[in-house]
Order: sequence, then C-alpha cells, then structure tokens
Amino acid sequence: MTIIKCKKCGQEFAYEVWGSVTPGGKERETANCPYCGEVGYSEITSQTISSYKLDDKGNPDRRKSY
Ligand SMILES: [Zn+2]
Repeated sequence: MTIIKCKKCGQEFAYEVWGSVTPGGKERETANCPYCGEVGYSEITSQTISSYKLDDKGNPDRRKSY
C-alpha cells in the first residue's frame, strides 16, 4: 500500500497493486484519485491497481475501492 497526494485536488489517498503477475495481457493500470478522479499513478502491468480513501486516522479504507 502506497500513500500519495493528488496533484490536482491535494487530497491524500492510498493505492495498491495486487493480483497475480501473468505473462502477457499487460495493460496500463491507473490509480485514480477517489476524490476527483485524477490519475495519481499508473504502470503497465498484468496486475490490478485499486485506490482507497484514507480514514480519519490516515489508514486506507478498504471497504470501498476506486
Ligand atoms: Zn484528486
């Protein structure tokens, strides 16, 4: 889990890259800001990227992914 700050709206959010690494089938996956939708991070991967809002303690809220 990585925490980054959105360059557009300034909110911090978390993202993680998860899932199995498979040969081929790579696409550009993005971590979108949960607040404004701006792309905060992207990479070419066969895995999946999910992003999460942070709760009031600064921990990723895993109940909902974006
Ligand atoms: Zn944002």
